[in-house]
Amino acid sequence: MRVTIKIPTALRQFTDGHSESQLEARTVAQALAQLTITYPELRPHLYRDGNELRNFINVYLNTEDIRHQQRLDTPVKEGDVVTIVPSIAGGATTLEEIGSGLRARGNNELPSLNNEEISRYSRHLIMPEVGMAGQRRLKAASVLMVGTGGLGAPVGMYLAAAGVGHMGIVDFDVVDASNLQRQIIHGTKDVGRPKIESARDRLHNINPHIQIDTFNARLTSYNALQLFREYDIIVDGTDNFPTRYLVNDACVLTGKPNVYGSIFRFEGQASVFWAAAKDGRGACYRCLYAEPPPPGLVPSCAEGGVLGVLPGIVGAIQANETIKLILGDGDALTNRLLLFDAWKMEFRELKLRKDPACPVCGERATIKQLIDYEEFCGLRGSGTERGFDKTRETAIEELTATELKQRLDLGDDLQIIDVREPNEYEIARIPNSKLIPLKEIVSRAAELDPARQTVIHCKGGVRSAKAIEALKQAGYAGNLLNLKGGITAWSDEVDPGVPKY
Ligand SMILES: [Zn+2]
Repeated sequence: MRVTIKIPTALRQFTDGHSESQLEARTVAQALAQLTITYPELRPHLYRDGNELRNFINVYLNTEDIRHQQRLDTPVKEGDVVTIVPSIAGGATTLEEIGSGLRARGNNELPSLNNEEISRYSRHLIMPEVGMAGQRRLKAASVLMVGTGGLGAPVGMYLAAAGVGHMGIVDFDVVDASNLQRQIIHGTKDVGRPKIESARDRLHNINPHIQIDTFNARLTSYNALQLFREYDIIVDGTDNFPTRYLVNDACVLTGKPNVYGSIFRFEGQASVFWAAAKDGRGACYRCLYAEPPPPGLVPSCAEGGVLGVLPGIVGAIQANETIKLILGDGDALTNRLLLFDAWKMEFRELKLRKDPACPVCGERATIKQLIDYEEFCGLRGSGTERGFDKTRETAIEELTATELKQRLDLGDDLQIIDVREPNEYEIARIPNSKLIPLKEIVSRAAELDPARQTVIHCKGGVRSAKAIEALKQAGYAGNLLNLKGGITAWSDEVDPGVPKY
């Protein structure tokens, strides 16, 4: 049977950039095996010892998760599409059922609209799907936005414009020039300001009739539950795994719907996770991905980049879903995972099911309170089980940008290898550095002189550490030093003329 396998962006570094592959197979296992024969580097990223799929990798046959069929033994038919869905740095319940929680407030308890608000919301009011009752429900609703970045920008602006009466925003960051390519809630004049202040001003400018609470803090296991209890709906606009799992678990524990979105390069995901939905069948993020990928496997947007308009599209979908939850009508994105590819202009939809064995929302859930999410995601403590070998990491020698400059000024004979991508090398480079992208470092190791000391650098120091590990594993004998903080630190400490990106 001829089938197509779709490969997500994060794994295309192991498939020579190919986004899909056509091959012959009778089962999903055979299709994946064929794929890993063509691209052997992919294998360790899909399987954990032997033939068991890693649990942050989900595989769909057409629109169904193979875990709900015969797993890897699921047979395939001619023309089927097998989709690999890794977590990225993401029968439908009707809103008639799940909106009832928000409907608990009877119509006579809903706030009224003044004449100014009636004029402002007139295009909503004349739609039977919204009308006076719906607009008053929007005014009565409260929504907490976690993050005011790329996703939070359109979410906040559309919800404010739509008249959501009470909004909370949590962020601890300040506006940076590199945010402005996509975080349209902030402007050039806001660079250096706390994001929540900039966002609050913008939202109040859009709609002065709404109440905005700001929390200039990092969302943590200590404050999340208390904060979430104050709002009807939580919108996840975060860009990292610890916060994403924290948002999910806190939503499950407080019974709140989690309007989820995530983005990477050209690819986006969106869904509504609501384990407490009235029918009891709502899936949560952990039903989809029980555990996060090991650190470093899935690049962040800061490392991998993101098309500026992508969070605009995904965030607008989150705003749309939030409004439907409040109105209690329409078909919600619950138990569905929407995949969007901006480069191909392709939307696809996969079915999600509640996992009875889910550690947080399943029948015998083991997580009853919030945990340490940094540790859970392998960012702190021992994480060897998830493939993160601390001992190897500490064996990497480092030097700072200042030290590198001093040694160069003293005339030390150092070779400087840049393991970034060619397009990054075009933006900025350290003088006399040689470009060998990370994925070529082992095959081109002969270009390094083991008799000379070698400094390896990238943008921030993560990829260069991987390069050093790969070279050591491949048996490279020379002395290797990692430039701490990469070219960004060089720009900060040594030469501000080197642009930061
Ligand atoms: Zn779950």
